[in-house]
Amino acid sequence: MAALALLLCHCRSISPSPLSAQPSPAASPFTVLGEGIGSAVLDEVRLAALSAQRDVEVWGELTAPVLIYVHPSHRALEREVGLGDVPWLRAWAQYDRIDLQSPTTFGHRDYRPPLRELLGHELTHVFMYQRIGTRETWNRIGIPFWFREGMASWTSHQGYRRGNLFTVGRRLQARHQLIDPLLEGELLNRIDQPLAYAAAHWAFDRLVVEVGEAAVLELLDDIRLEVAAMAGPASASSAPSTASAEGAAGDAAPRTADRPFARAFARRIGMSEAEFATSYRQSLLAAAASQPSS
Ligand SMILES: [Zn+2]
Repeated sequence: MAALALLLCHCRSISPSPLSAQPSPAASPFTVLGEGIGSAVLDEVRLAALSAQRDVEVWGELTAPVLIYVHPSHRALEREVGLGDVPWLRAWAQYDRIDLQSPTTFGHRDYRPPLRELLGHELTHVFMYQRIGTRETWNRIGIPFWFREGMASWTSHQGYRRGNLFTVGRRLQARHQLIDPLLEGELLNRIDQPLAYAAAHWAFDRLVVEVGEAAVLELLDDIRLEVAAMAGPASASSAPSTASAEGAAGDAAPRTADRPFARAFARRIGMSEAEFATSYRQSLLAAAASQPSS
């Protein structure tokens, strides 16, 4: 599967409590199910999702309801998503579904803060998939690891666990000098996952600082239009939610691979992804040569 949603899950304290002002359950776009999972846990998951949804709203609304399926164990989650030996995996996001390891197995005394953070991360993936594609096309559109995971980490406020430019630069310089942390993000993730996520987080942060959140959102919309445009002029101007646009994009996606992102990025950001990556890598190495910031 092209689009993965992997997340380390560590405990943190969130203040004020994200569950202190819970939205009305009646407004929930989430269906939470789980075989052998108690109703109290399912309710906690739904409330955490409603709270985490607020993080995602910096970008916009989810456009399709989301099923959150809770699995009783880590092994059950791995089986569901077809992966093995990924001990850090806690959840897996798709266009309109999140598979979640039961938070009671996270190993935290109070699982609600890490659950809320995890769902914020995963719902950001869901939002992006729904924004750039359709149920038929979302997993055929190549999105670079750094952008996908950086957006999810940034939106769910996980910077506290990503170090800073100095620590990221130092680690890159010491261990992975020959790897570009953005252009080779998938590779870096396989050999040094914490560094890959940290580099992705700060790259996305830099992108937001440089161009603003509105431009990033427009980039997502441009990706969707690029996919549609590949199928012909008629579908390029179609509304994203129409059935015709969905069908056209579905036909085009296998041929387009990573091109929609690359083309949309260059046009909306004003430089190629490679230029952005080169500039970012240089900034990391420059930070590594400086004194650590407090
Ligand atoms: Zn992720």
